Amino acid sequence: MPDRPHVCVFCGSSPGSDPAFLEAARRVGATLAREGLGLVYGGGRVGLMGAVADAALAVGGRVVGIIPEPLATREVAHAGLTELVIVPGMHERKNLMARRSAGFLTLPGGIGTFEEFFEILTWAALGLHAKPMGLLDVGGYFGPLRALLEHAVAAGFVRPSHLAVLRISADPEALTAGLLVGASTTEGRGWIGPDQT
Ligand code: AMP
Repeated sequence: MPDRPHVCVFCGSSPGSDPAFLEAARRVGATLAREGLGLVYGGGRVGLMGAVADAALAVGGRVVGIIPEPLATREVAHAGLTELVIVPGMHERKNLMARRSAGFLTLPGGIGTFEEFFEILTWAALGLHAKPMGLLDVGGYFGPLRALLEHAVAAGFVRPSHLAVLRISADPEALTAGLLVGASTTEGRGWIGPDQT
């Protein structure tokens, strides 16, 4: 068992068009390591994913990559991690990432990042966990996502209480260092991932 709490980071496998995205990812990785928090992430060496991992490793952080076998063999896996776990597929990956983490951070990214963010938010809304979630809104990237969530609340499809686990900030250090402070990291009625429902 890991000896320290780990935070799961979801982020783009691309670097994005603005260097501010890479910079924010590096600041998150470095802050996790400085705070003595391990990083759990998708195990890739590309894009913002690689930047978070490299920055955490550079200051002595513990980095766990969890990658599905098809992605690992396409040689996108990071070769220098503390631990690389190769799993059969995406569902096993997401279950393991969630189980091994005390909280979740979402950084800018694409469809894969959106999917991961919404799955964990769904599990919180269903009461399957009460672990904190942070959304790092670099340069207003998540403005449309925030507007969508507010729109869904106004339209009666999302309860405000379903967003209670979510903290939104533009400050990488404050969001990362504060994520687990005073937060519940309980597992609700027990983790039920998509493989187990
Ligand atoms: P996207 O936001 O579409 O770039 O997808 C990023 C998310 O999907 C990450 O958080 C990963 O979990 C997963 N992912 C996408 N591409 C890769 C890759 N090359 N290696 C590992 N994981 C990946």
